[in-house]
Amino acid sequence: MNPILTVIKTVGVLGGGQLARMLAQAGRPAGLKFVFLDPAQDACAKEFGDHIHADWDDQSALTQLGERSDVVTFDFENVPESSATLIESLCPVYPPPRALFTSQDRMREKSLMQELDIPVAPFFPVSSRPELLAAVEQMGFPCVLKTRRFGYDGKGQVVLRLQEDLERAWQQLGDQELICEDFVPFDVECSIIAARDRNGNTVFWPLTLNLHRDGVLAISMAPVFDGQMQARAEVLIQRLLDHLDYTGVMVLELFLKDGEMLANEFAPRVHNSGHWTIDGAHTSQFSNHLRAICNLPLGDTKCSSKAIMFNLLGQMPEVAEQSADTGSWHGDVHWHDYHKTARAGRKIGHVTVTAHSDAGVRAKAAQLAGELGVAAEIDLENVLEGLQKARG
Ligand code: AMP
Repeated sequence: MNPILTVIKTVGVLGGGQLARMLAQAGRPAGLKFVFLDPAQDACAKEFGDHIHADWDDQSALTQLGERSDVVTFDFENVPESSATLIESLCPVYPPPRALFTSQDRMREKSLMQELDIPVAPFFPVSSRPELLAAVEQMGFPCVLKTRRFGYDGKGQVVLRLQEDLERAWQQLGDQELICEDFVPFDVECSIIAARDRNGNTVFWPLTLNLHRDGVLAISMAPVFDGQMQARAEVLIQRLLDHLDYTGVMVLELFLKDGEMLANEFAPRVHNSGHWTIDGAHTSQFSNHLRAICNLPLGDTKCSSKAIMFNLLGQMPEVAEQSADTGSWHGDVHWHDYHKTARAGRKIGHVTVTAHSDAGVRAKAAQLAGELGVAAEIDLENVLEGLQKARG
């Protein structure tokens, strides 16, 4: 980023988690300052800026954030609408809050995608037992019952396979507004990551292959798709970007099945499946998000090498320290420690392996999976077979 071009000095962020932290790591070398609003005392981004320790709806804290910032963005999707509106009266907010509100409600989100001719699996709103029965009757088993709001990393959703599952799922989720979707027996999942600037110029990173375990992203891999798949995904996300007159990074998650592409959801922010871009692309998703919201030209999104990213959950593995000490990975293994308190299942860091050939990166990733003790659950060969099938 060129600090001379920017008149924006301070970026405010609603949220102070690892996404905010990596935004600040990308922006501080260019001279940007950061202020984070986050209710967590130990918000991990605060190492790189000022922390306003307050709730999402604390009016005086929101006013302080708006007054201290030249532009405000977010790393957290469930910011209340009234909070974003309050800040918007004080300084520009990007991505546009309208995108945030759409993505906060799965029903609103899926309806918009349908309206824009973005293919999605059949879905029905559910707010009563009879509506649930009617939805399941229409779609048949299996299907997926999800909360409309506040779901993440597979939380707030249940796969329905048998009639007996209905009452259990209703007991678990029935006190909220729900959506019931057809289950997609996908070959693989992928995501298209785009950045759009304030003038509508858009850039895309190579389509990223994703593998989830227990609803949580386990690995991301790029580049692996051909130009045709890339072009199809770009057309789909472009419809959302243009419709929402979007500024910043957006990610659209997709299911691939026998050559068919179905959208699952979009995130109006930088995204876990784009972390590989820090070490594997000429410009990272974090840098381009800042460039977009600060009204600077977008950077080159081409790959600088082949990359495979592993999420690190719970606690940083011992091998991370060993690797740093011995240098045994020849600089092609890039560790990112978010400096969060260890807790089972928590996203605590990530590691990206890079190489110049497909064979090279896969061999290194297989070795790393062994070192991390996840080789059994992350079967790279199996993922690549799925990829072949997905191409149709
Ligand atoms: P979500 O919270 O919607 O992103 O879902 C988390 C993960 O659950 C997805 O990445 C998929 O692996 C899986 N999933 C969600 N919805 C469906 C669906 N309709 N069919 C099959 N798998 C799904």
